[in-house]
Amino acid sequence: SIEPAERMTGLPTQFFAKLVGKANAQAAKGRDVINLGQGNPDTPTPPHIVQAMQEASANPLYHRYPPFRGFPFLKEAVAKRYLDDYGVKLDPETEVAILFGGKTGLIEISQCLLNPGDLCLVPDPGYPDYWSGVALAGGRMTYMPLLESNGFLPDYSSVSPEDAKAAKLMFINYPNNPTGAVADASFYADTVAFAEKNNIVVASDFAYGAIGFDGRKPFSFLQTPGAKEVGVEFYTLSKTYNMAGWRVGFALGNAKIISLINLIQDHYYCSLFGGIQEAAATALIGPQQCVAELNDKYESRREAVYGALSEIGWKAARPGGSFFCWLPVPKGWKSEPFADTLLEKADVVVAPGVGFGSHGEGYVRLGLLSDEARLVEAVQRIGRLGLFG
Ligand code: PLP
Repeated sequence: SIEPAERMTGLPTQFFAKLVGKANAQAAKGRDVINLGQGNPDTPTPPHIVQAMQEASANPLYHRYPPFRGFPFLKEAVAKRYLDDYGVKLDPETEVAILFGGKTGLIEISQCLLNPGDLCLVPDPGYPDYWSGVALAGGRMTYMPLLESNGFLPDYSSVSPEDAKAAKLMFINYPNNPTGAVADASFYADTVAFAEKNNIVVASDFAYGAIGFDGRKPFSFLQTPGAKEVGVEFYTLSKTYNMAGWRVGFALGNAKIISLINLIQDHYYCSLFGGIQEAAATALIGPQQCVAELNDKYESRREAVYGALSEIGWKAARPGGSFFCWLPVPKGWKSEPFADTLLEKADVVVAPGVGFGSHGEGYVRLGLLSDEARLVEAVQRIGRLGLFG
């Protein structure tokens, strides 16, 4: 019989695979399902990026194995973007690693830094890949609750002295999935101070760095003095340029950690297809208007959704960034049966908050991932169930 390794049995089940399965089953019944559950951008990659890829795919240079660790032009392109957008200087050779989406790096960093039994601090609610990486490394986790009363930021003063001393790694993620919270410069300064004091590596997940509302441009962790000494930032083209399917991301910052991530990547992957690297560089150094337009689109969608929510009596705070709305479930409900009810009775898919950790219980996550008319229709369908007000 086939016996999986212990590291596999320690892996949590993929919550979102289950969610997609439920949504597909409902659609298979012939229902008109509005899927706002998965964080999958619904509009296409800008045409100039697609065109760069089409042209590059004919280049025979790219038909051979790409160089290990990728082409220098792509690392230079992302370093230039960070300099232009955040004033952060990065050495393309030593402070940039090219990844298959942010996801691979978020998992690999645990394998790079944690021995079996080592402690990692993870946000709760939080993006489930942090847990998977820790589980694959055989590490253990302490959850840092993200409470609405604290702006969904972790409170470092409530991490126990034993955990602070034992932790080797911690994850932060702003703009935040799933709460939509954003962090300011003082939060990042506190994070660097906490990490320095306790000798903890910071992994900052900046997947939604390009999506900030109300005229507030999200801060990068790397803008904080001392950040590069204590950690790295994970940046991805998936959301910024609608390139989720292309699988391009980066780890940026501390050279020692970057070299570890590069080493692990050498063994797993070699590097991305050269045509994709060229298209990614085009995204990063080409016209940036598409990024601003996308940001505006999500902000208009947010306004449409909150207008509709207030009409049905569903009270919730607006997200400051990301493309998620974090909505409290009505009194007496738990998030999973509530989400199941919305799917069964209104054909609307939202993600139950408990999928992001125990402190996600009491909420559902609705993605701004359909056009305004469909988003409003989704809220109106929910309103017709009469669960609010
Ligand atoms: N981090 C967060 C918080 C995310 O929501 C996602 C994707 O949904 C990712 C990282 C990974 O994105 P990718 O692997 O496409 O770069």
